Amino acid sequence: MQTYPWWTKEQIEFAKEIEQFATENIPRAEELFWTRTFPMELVEKAVKRGYFGAGIPKEYGGLGLGCTGACIACEQLNRMYAVGHILVTSYIGGLHQILHNGTEEQKQEWLTKMAKGQLGAVCITEVFAGSDAASVMTTAEKDGDEWIINGKKRFTTTAGPAERYLVYAKTSDDPEVRRKNQHLTTFVVEKGTPGFHLEKVNPLVAFDNLPNSYLDFDNVRVPDFNRIGPVGGGWNIMMTGLNFERLIGAAAAAGALEDVIKQVIYYTSRRVQFRSQISDFQHNQFKIADMITKQQVARLVTFYAAYIMDMGQMAAIESGIAKMLNTDYATEIGLDAIQLMGGDGLTRFYPAERLLREGKIGQIVAGTNEVQKLVIYRMGALGYLDWPFRLRWNEKLETPTLSLGKGPWYGKEITEDVMLKILAEDYRCNPGLYMAIDDCEKETGLPKEKILDLWAKLEQKGLIVTFKDRRGNVIMAKANYIGIRKAYPLEHYKWFPDWFDVEKLGF
Ligand SMILES: Cc1cc2nc3c(=O)[nH]c(=O)nc-3n(C[C@H](O)[C@H](O)[C@H](O)COP(=O)(O)OP(=O)(O)OC[C@H]3O[C@@H](n4cnc5c(N)ncnc54)[C@H](O)[C@@H]3O)c2cc1C
Repeated sequence: MQTYPWWTKEQIEFAKEIEQFATENIPRAEELFWTRTFPMELVEKAVKRGYFGAGIPKEYGGLGLGCTGACIACEQLNRMYAVGHILVTSYIGGLHQILHNGTEEQKQEWLTKMAKGQLGAVCITEVFAGSDAASVMTTAEKDGDEWIINGKKRFTTTAGPAERYLVYAKTSDDPEVRRKNQHLTTFVVEKGTPGFHLEKVNPLVAFDNLPNSYLDFDNVRVPDFNRIGPVGGGWNIMMTGLNFERLIGAAAAAGALEDVIKQVIYYTSRRVQFRSQISDFQHNQFKIADMITKQQVARLVTFYAAYIMDMGQMAAIESGIAKMLNTDYATEIGLDAIQLMGGDGLTRFYPAERLLREGKIGQIVAGTNEVQKLVIYRMGALGYLDWPFRLRWNEKLETPTLSLGKGPWYGKEITEDVMLKILAEDYRCNPGLYMAIDDCEKETGLPKEKILDLWAKLEQKGLIVTFKDRRGNVIMAKANYIGIRKAYPLEHYKWFPDWFDVEKLGF
C-alpha cells in the first residue's frame, strides 16, 4: 500500500498492520460472502485488535489516529467486503456527530462503546425524504425528561445487527423554523427500546452479506440524555456528519480498487489468446493504465480530504469530490475489469463484478453523485467568484482585451448619457453578456443605488433592458439595439480581423 509523506509515524505503522490483517483475512471474508453470512466473527477479530477505534480519540478508548486513521481502517477493512461497510456505518452512526456535538457524558457513553465494537447505523432517509433530506416526517415530541419518536426510516445499512441508531427527527412544524432548517433534532435510539422495530430488509443489487433495512418507530421513548446537540440543531449536525460519511465512504470505495487491479494484472498475464498473453495487447494495457491512474487519484483526493479534516476544516467540497470520484471510478474500473477478463469477469468467482455492483451503490448512498455535484457547485463556485478581469477596449491593439482595475469612466460624472455609453461600450467588448452591478461599480465607482436609479431611468426610456433575480431585484442590465445606436454610431462597433479585406469582401 502506498503511504503518504504527511502521514504520522503511527498512521504509517497502523496502515501496514491493518493491510496485513485484511490480506490474511480475505479468504475467510470470501467464504462469508459466498454463504451470505453477516461477518460478525471478522468484525470481532478487527475489534480485538483495536481497529474499530482507529478514528476515535484515545481518551474514549480509541487509537487516536483521526480522520486519516478512520480512512485507513475503512479502506483496508473494505477489502474484506462487508467488514469495511460495517465500520463505515458504525462511524456514521455517530462518531463525528457525537464527538463534535455531544456532551462529555455522551462521548463517554457511546464513543467508548464504539471503540469496543458496538455497531451503529445512521437513519436519515425516509420514504418521502431521499435527496431532500430536510423533508423527514419522523417526529420527536418532548414529554417531561423524555422524547417520544414516531415514524419510519428506510435504507438503513446494518439495521438489525446494529445496536446504536443515530436518528434525525422533526421537532418543529413552524414554517419559519423550517425555512431556517432548524426543524430537525438528532437522537440516539438503542436496539431493544420498546416500540423500535425492524420492518423490512431490502434485497439489493450488492451488499451481499450486509442488511439494509426499513425501521419503524412506534411511540419510542428516549431520555433527553439521548439528544445530540441542541433542539433544532439536527440539520447542521447532519450536514457535517455527511461530510465525514462521504469521506470514509470514499475511503471504503478506494479500498476495493487495488485488489481488483491486481487481480486483473494477474489474470491478463496468464490468459493466452492468439498465441499472446492478453496483457501484451496495447489496448488492454491502456485500460489497466487508466485503472491505476483512477485508483491513485482516488486515494490522493481521499487522504488529502482526510488531512484537511484532521486540520479542523469541514472539507465539505473535498469529501464530496472524493465520494463522487471514487464511486464513479469503482463502477468504471469494475466494468473495465470485467471487459478485460471476458466471460470470467462476469462470474462471481472473481471480484470484478462485485466491484461494479458495490460501485453502483456507492454512487447513490450518502447523497447521490448528482447531489454531490450540487454541493460542489453551490459551495465550490463561491471560491471562483473573484475573477478580477474585464474585457475592455484596448486602444493600442484596437481590440477588446482582459484588463484589471478601474475603467476609464471611474470617478467621473456619470449622467444618463454616460451610463448608456458605458452599457453600449460593454456591448462592444462583451456583446453577449449583461453587465452586472459589480461590473458597473468597477466602471463608474458609483454606489449600487445610484446605478440602479440610472438603469431604471434608461429602461423607462426604452434604451436598455434589465435582468431581475428570483426575488425580483434588478442585478444586471444591457443596452438594447436602440440604446446601442443612440450611444455611438455603427463605426464605433465595427471590428474586422487583419486578414479580412473590408474593401473587397465587406459592405
Ligand atoms: C444501499 C443503500 C444504502 C443506504 N444506506 C443508508 C443509511 O445507512 N442511512 C440512510 O439514512 N440512508 C441510506 N441510504 C439512502 C441514500 O442516502 C438515498 O438512497 C439517497 O440519498 C438518494 O435518495 P433516494 O433513493 O430517495 O433518491 P431520490 O432522492 O428520489 O433521487 C432519485 C434521482 O433523482 C436525482 N435527484 C434528486 N434530487 C435532485 C436534485 N435536486 N438535483 C438533481 N438530481 C436530483 C437523484 O440524484 C437520483 O438520481 C442508502 C441507500 C442505499 C441504496
